[in-house]
Amino acid sequence: MLIFDYKTSTLMDTEAIVIRIKTPTGDMDSSVDCPSLLNFNDLLVAIRDVMPEATVTAFEYEDEVGDRITVRSDEELKAMLSYYFNIMNEQRMNGMLPDPLQIFPRGTEWHLHISSTGCMFFHVITSQVPLVYMCVFVVLQINAQDIHYQEQLGHGNGGTVYKAKHVLGKRVLAVKVIPLDITVELQKQIMSELEILYKCDSPYIITFFGAFFVENRISICTEFMDGGSLDVYKRIPEHVLGRIAVSVVKGLTYLWSLKILHRDVKPSNMLVNTRGQVKLCDFGVSTQLVNSIAKTYVGTNAYMAPERISGEQYGIHADVWSVGISFMEVCFNGLMLTCFLPVCLQFQPLQLLQCIVDEDPPVLPVSQFSEKFVHFITQCMRRQPKERPAPNKLMDHSFITQYNDGNAEVVSMWVCRCLEERRAQQAQGRI
Ligand code: ATP
Ligand code: MG
Repeated sequence: MLIFDYKTSTLMDTEAIVIRIKTPTGDMDSSVDCPSLLNFNDLLVAIRDVMPEATVTAFEYEDEVGDRITVRSDEELKAMLSYYFNIMNEQRMNGMLPDPLQIFPRGTEWHLHISSTGCMFFHVITSQVPLVYMCVFVVLQINAQDIHYQEQLGHGNGGTVYKAKHVLGKRVLAVKVIPLDITVELQKQIMSELEILYKCDSPYIITFFGAFFVENRISICTEFMDGGSLDVYKRIPEHVLGRIAVSVVKGLTYLWSLKILHRDVKPSNMLVNTRGQVKLCDFGVSTQLVNSIAKTYVGTNAYMAPERISGEQYGIHADVWSVGISFMEVCFNGLMLTCFLPVCLQFQPLQLLQCIVDEDPPVLPVSQFSEKFVHFITQCMRRQPKERPAPNKLMDHSFITQYNDGNAEVVSMWVCRCLEERRAQQAQGRI
């Protein structure tokens, strides 16, 4: 019998549990005698031994509604075990035998390579318990025919985003389809430039599952975020925006550490889900893809820093500007940026951009927002790039440190409430 001690938040176990490692072609069951002694690294080593050709960096389990939850740390492992413990107890109370705890290895294994079938034995030592598994595996690639498209999620300048299901992995995806009239050589170049996305592994960056060309269209498959992007939310309250800002800054800091500039920071590229996670998407890792889309681009990127609009060299500081102007927009009832630049209201898009270059950056009214928030935005939107906070300074800003409390519940509750309101309005035919 497993007992969860709520005071110490630890699992006290007197009975083995069965962990089932799910691979694309088979399951491996193993009995763990003392689950409380199991730690994240032990389990990762076990999975990696099962799938040595894959780069497994985390694993997932499914909650009651079938959504996948990622485990990347001892803390998250503990949460998974306590969730499983509750399910196990419920099943016992209903006179059922408990199901094994199913985990889904996560990494590059099911999107990049097609490898041979293998068969092996391995064992892993937790503090006390040797586990022995036997496995057969095949590593798969995402293919066009394995994707079942569902509804359209949105349409941007480059292409259209669909909700879709990957039939083999049974995973819900967001697939961005972009028409591109380019040569096969350029297609290959884009595919190879996109490979860096497989290496991105951060809770603040959308997970990339693969990309493929069909005729003159590229499809880019990523994790689906059930809350969508920030641009569709009305005025975001400051205490929620604070937590969102923490994730955005952490996501950008991660990308910068990989020497990747985002280049397209804006509310529609900040995604949220009902779990309270916030992730960045659509960052420009493929120069060729960015250039090819730019040829057909017809919009005004009003989130661009003045130095970019002027065609000067730019770097990390240009992303920082875009963070400032994006947050300024979403905290203000989703009003258009032009509202902060009244002189430009009557202007055409090109004049709006000129205005961003020429005029002093707008400042949030101190009466409606906290001093820390106003200071954060003002710092991000300093005209001189060097005067904007560097990555470490961004993380250390008092507005960020104030909300860096790991409280995903705040964002989660807000997303759920907004989705609920939207559903009610749709039902009344108001949307
Ligand atoms: P642009 O083309 O200039 O980048 P955009 O970001 O608005 O503009 P898309 O990137 O095509 O356009 O995205 C369209 C919409 O699809 C987004 O606004 C968002 O609401 C939705 N979307 C994109 N990716 C996801 C995802 N991974 N999960 C859920 N919704 C998504
Ligand atoms: Mg986008």
